[in-house]
Amino acid sequence: MQAVPPGAPPRIAVSACLLGVPVRYDGDHRRSDRVVERLGAAFSLLAECPEAGMGLGVPRPKIHLEREATAAGPRLIGSRSEDLTAAGVRYARAAAERFRRAGVCGIVLKSRSPSCGPGDARILSNGVEVSATGQGIFARTVSEALPEVPQISEVALEEPRQRDHWITRVFALREIREIRAIRTAFAPRPADRRGLESPPERRPSRWRSLYAFHARWKMLLMAHSEAAARRLGHRLATAGDPAAALAAYRPAFLAALAEPDAPNAHRNVLEHLAGHLKRRLDADSRRELHAAIRAAAAGAAPLAAPIRLLAAHARRLEVASLADQAYLDLRHPALGYRGA
Ligand code: SF4
Repeated sequence: MQAVPPGAPPRIAVSACLLGVPVRYDGDHRRSDRVVERLGAAFSLLAECPEAGMGLGVPRPKIHLEREATAAGPRLIGSRSEDLTAAGVRYARAAAERFRRAGVCGIVLKSRSPSCGPGDARILSNGVEVSATGQGIFARTVSEALPEVPQISEVALEEPRQRDHWITRVFALREIREIRAIRTAFAPRPADRRGLESPPERRPSRWRSLYAFHARWKMLLMAHSEAAARRLGHRLATAGDPAAALAAYRPAFLAALAEPDAPNAHRNVLEHLAGHLKRRLDADSRRELHAAIRAAAAGAAPLAAPIRLLAAHARRLEVASLADQAYLDLRHPALGYRGA
């Protein structure tokens, strides 16, 4: 499958049964309206069923995770006590490679499945449940192979903060990959690799994309880690080579964004963004904006309310630096991001 071209909807891999495909062990499915209709409106969905893909058939006998005494983690055990772990890991590694080539930016996995469950699968020991927080073999192997790609279950998708965090990480990964695409597009020609300088007019583009990315994402990053936002900004300001700067920036940025946001941090970020408009808003607009920020900080209104106001003022007053902030981007309305 071709990688996602810049500007196209991000590509998401999804447990096939959540899309209504009848691939479960009992020949049924577990269609999720949120996944099919809401995520389907904003993302390009890629169906994946590891158990069917491994050739276990549909329908098939139930399989389960069995506690393992070693650090290797639980084993995937079939109905006749056969050990399917190696086959499951092999299949998942190949799927991860397919996801990587297809530019997958996020994964939605069926909860509680011994293959797909991202952290809530049952682990048995001699037929008795000993844990309900297991990671399915497919989920675990793909997460080890693609640690940058955020996973979420259809159950966690129903929880607004977890959903928003996952959506944030999906778009961040998508956008930072586009910098890499730009860098590749501007890579030196063969002659340049023999020691000649790249054409001077190409260099600023590569730097601009990285600086512009940081400027766009800095305020959103501050909601997750203020220290990381400042540290990354300082690193960029003192870096000497765009390719090396991007290679160091990317994992640090994605790791910082993987931290959960602090509810109080949103108030600080919103106040900071409102500060950019302070001198340009009349008294009524300022009062309205600060009331919306207070209500959102107190949990009495969704974050989308002050975000919409800020974005509208930024557009009306043509404050380009604010209008392009990732923090003010409410994404596709079907996602309900930030309560929009
Ligand atoms: S949970 Fe995963 S393995 Fe099970 S049917 Fe759904 S996609 Fe297939």
